[in-house]
Amino acid sequence: DNANLFAALRAAFPADLSACAVETDNGLQYSWQDLDQATAMVANLLEFLELPKGARIAVQVEKSVEALVLYLATLRAGLVYLPLNTAYQSAEMAYFIEDAKPSVVVCSGRNFGWISKMAFLAGTAHVFTLNEDRTGSLLDRASQFPKTHTIAHRDVNDLAAIIYTSGTTGRSKGAMLSHGNLLSNARVLQTYWDWKPGDVLIHALPIFHVHGLFVAIHGALINGSKMVWCAKFDSRVVLQYFPRATVFMGVPTLYVRLLAEAGLTPQVVKNMRLFVSGSAPMLVDTHHQWQARTGHTILERYGMSETVMLTSNPGRAADGERVVGSVGKPLPGVQLRVRDEAGKDLPQGETGGIEVRGPNVFQGYWQMPEKTAQEFTADGFFKTGDVGRVDAQGYVTIVGRSKDLIISGGYNVYPAEIEGYINNLPGVAESAVVGVPDADFGEVGVAVVVPLAGATVDPAQVVATLKSMLANFKVPKRCVVVAELPRNAMGKVQKNLLREQYRTG
Ligand code: ATP
Ligand code: MG
Repeated sequence: DNANLFAALRAAFPADLSACAVETDNGLQYSWQDLDQATAMVANLLEFLELPKGARIAVQVEKSVEALVLYLATLRAGLVYLPLNTAYQSAEMAYFIEDAKPSVVVCSGRNFGWISKMAFLAGTAHVFTLNEDRTGSLLDRASQFPKTHTIAHRDVNDLAAIIYTSGTTGRSKGAMLSHGNLLSNARVLQTYWDWKPGDVLIHALPIFHVHGLFVAIHGALINGSKMVWCAKFDSRVVLQYFPRATVFMGVPTLYVRLLAEAGLTPQVVKNMRLFVSGSAPMLVDTHHQWQARTGHTILERYGMSETVMLTSNPGRAADGERVVGSVGKPLPGVQLRVRDEAGKDLPQGETGGIEVRGPNVFQGYWQMPEKTAQEFTADGFFKTGDVGRVDAQGYVTIVGRSKDLIISGGYNVYPAEIEGYINNLPGVAESAVVGVPDADFGEVGVAVVVPLAGATVDPAQVVATLKSMLANFKVPKRCVVVAELPRNAMGKVQKNLLREQYRTG
């Protein structure tokens, strides 16, 4: 049996290959046959290069259906796909290329000069270009190859992709994911989210990360579902697509932007079945606004580059309610436990480090055997670095990352708890609480607060109000009001920058 992920995706193509598989926001239609033939041609080109097993195909290109084809073709040829954020500039690209040592680099034509030089110096043999308008040397070369291709044989543990983490807590690490990791997760989500025949996905996420590349694309393909493909997220365009689609996936910011559209009404989402959010915590307020405006409860789920999806709120009523503020229950097949710093299991309901095991958990960090060994326990659980708790019904709540935990006067302070209170104060849009060194307490919290548009927030008042609500050790000693929080290329709040900035009062 071939464990190649592409074999499973291809097997799920509908019988009628002439049906539309992908429709783009610039008016193009790709049939299932187009996907099959285009991936065959690119896979044939990649095989013609006679690369060693495990060779990496590093890709930094704008989102397009041809970029999707390149991803699928890489799987099909049994090579390792390595996507890179389009926001990365030369210093970042140099790090990734030198670290990953790809055999092939595919970049935008406008970056060919500097990227090809960088890649050849790092030992890359082939550099191709691929532009968002379907031009470039990759497709030129592929067009000379046959439209049929026998899917390469791969085992469950063979690598399919290396995903660099977002670099929220430090330097990005390459998470090595196997065909088995990706396929097991895709199959579990198909059932747990109750994908149905006829579902149509609006794909409006970037495709260089787990959410857009795996959760969204595999979700649609393994279900033989059509995708409506948006090169960039535009809230007006997505609104126009709602009546013709059933599933939408976004990071919390996308939902906030959709809520700003007056056209978001129960009528426009009448046909929609499922809204999924993840990658970062969604504010409770956003959940409630979405319910009020659309009648839908957003399904929040939790995952990471190293594990794909770990927990999820239920897709079907039979599996329980969707609980706002929780990331749901461990997915079928995922074992999840909460432990203290000493590695002792904590009783249910108590807060500690989240550890996981399952067929979805990665094969290790690329070229970091020591780091990999450190992050696994003796019995094979991966330490996620996230801190949370599990309630009596099995729902998981994330309270922050262990690196962001504040220890003040010997007490643990969980930033997400304090942020929850601050976000509920009048005039507050969002907040981040970070720990800074303190002579007396070891560490104290600083609250960084963003006011709602047009509102003013008095920092002294924030601290005073929190004092009346919370134990003193939890109350941030200082509050600063800022226009926005620093975010990385994935839209995640960079608490390390805030810690640096506010370390001295
Ligand atoms: P790095 O590991 O390089 O510091 P990163 O952890 O941000 O970066 P990713 O793998 O992209 O890189 O992100 C995974 C993290 O995102 C999780 O560990 C978790 O902290 C956070 N996350 C994902 N989904 C959710 C969610 N629904 N709620 C809260 N946090 C989430
Ligand atoms: Mg991480």
